Amino acid sequence: MNIAHHMKLGWSLVKEPGKLCNQGVPGPLLSHSTLAIPAAQLEKIVRDYNPVATSLSGLLIVSYRIRTHLWLTAHAQLMTNDRRFQLSLTESPVCTDCPTHVESLAHVFRDCWRARQMWDPLIAGRQRLTFYSSNFLSWLESNLANAYGFQGSCSWPLLFGVVLSKLWEWRNERCFNPSSTKPHSLQDILSYVQDIGLAYQFYHTVAPSSPHQGSQVIEVSWSPPREGWVNLATDGSSCGNPRAATAGGLLRDASGRWIVGFGANVGFCSAWHAELWAVFYGLHLAWAFGYSSIDLSIDYVLVVSLISSASSPVLNTLVSAIRKLLSRNWEVRVRHIYREGNRCVDWLANYSYGLPLGVR
Ligand SMILES: [Zn+2]
Repeated sequence: MNIAHHMKLGWSLVKEPGKLCNQGVPGPLLSHSTLAIPAAQLEKIVRDYNPVATSLSGLLIVSYRIRTHLWLTAHAQLMTNDRRFQLSLTESPVCTDCPTHVESLAHVFRDCWRARQMWDPLIAGRQRLTFYSSNFLSWLESNLANAYGFQGSCSWPLLFGVVLSKLWEWRNERCFNPSSTKPHSLQDILSYVQDIGLAYQFYHTVAPSSPHQGSQVIEVSWSPPREGWVNLATDGSSCGNPRAATAGGLLRDASGRWIVGFGANVGFCSAWHAELWAVFYGLHLAWAFGYSSIDLSIDYVLVVSLISSASSPVLNTLVSAIRKLLSRNWEVRVRHIYREGNRCVDWLANYSYGLPLGVR
C-alpha cells in the first residue's frame, strides 16, 4: 500500500475529523484494519509534526499542500530511487541526473546539482559549508527554524518549504513526463513566494479584527444600477474555513426587476473562495445574456480588492480567471455593498446548500 497516502490521511483525520472527506472514512481504517495507522502512531505523528508546524505559522495558513509535503519529507515517506530500491521497486538507487550518486532525500533536496542551482544564490558564501554538510534532519529543522538568518524580503522557512516542494515536483516531472518543457527557475519560486507573502499580509490588512469603536448607524438597502445598466449581486457562503460551501447570484435591471438568478453548490472551500465562485459564475451568466454594462456588487471587501486592484496578489487560478473575464470587451464596475443590502443573494447562497454539486 501507499504509505505516504496513509500518513497524509492520518494527519488529515486527526487534525480535521469533521472534514467531509474524512467523515466518509470507515471506522476500521482508524483502528483494527491492516491498513490502519494505530491510534498511538497517529498521536506520535501529530506530536512529531508540531515543532515544524509552530515554526511555519504563515505557511500553515496559506498552503496545506506544502506543509503536507514537508511532513512527508521529514518522515522519509517520499519515494526517492533509494527508497524504491530498498523496496525492490526499481533496479537502481541512483539519481537520474547524476549516475554516480544515490538518490537519497539529502541528494534530491540539497546535494544534487539541480538543488544546488536553487540554494547557491540564496545562501551566503560563508554559510555554504555548514548548509551543505549537516545531517539531513538537522538541516531540515534548522532551516525551518530560520537558523541561517536569510535577509531576503520574505520568510526563510516559507521560501525553504516552497523550494523543497518545487524540487520534488520538478524531479517527478523529469521522471514521469520527460517531454515536458516547462521552465524551472529560482525566479518562478521567488515570485510564487512573494505572492504567498503578499496574500498573507493582505489578508491581515484587509480583514482587521479590531473591535468597532465610535460606531455609527448607517441605513443600508439594495440600490438599483443606473439606467441602461444591470446589477449583478453575488454572495458566497461556507460552513467553515474550509467546509461545505455555496454561491449565489442575481441579475436585476434599473427598476429592480429580477432578470435571472443562480445558486451553486461549490463543494468544499472557505468563505472568500466561495465568494470568488459566485463572482465567476455571475460574470459568466451576465456575459451569456449579452449585457455590456454591469454593476457588480459584492459584500466581501477582500474579494472586491482581490479582483479589482492590479496591485493585489493573484492568489489562485480563480482570481486570474475572474480578472480575465473583467478584461473582456464590456464595462464592469465592482463595488462593495453591506451584507444587509445583499439579502436576496444571501438567501440564494443559503438555499444552495440543499442543491447537488454544480450550478442551478
Ligand atoms: Zn542528482
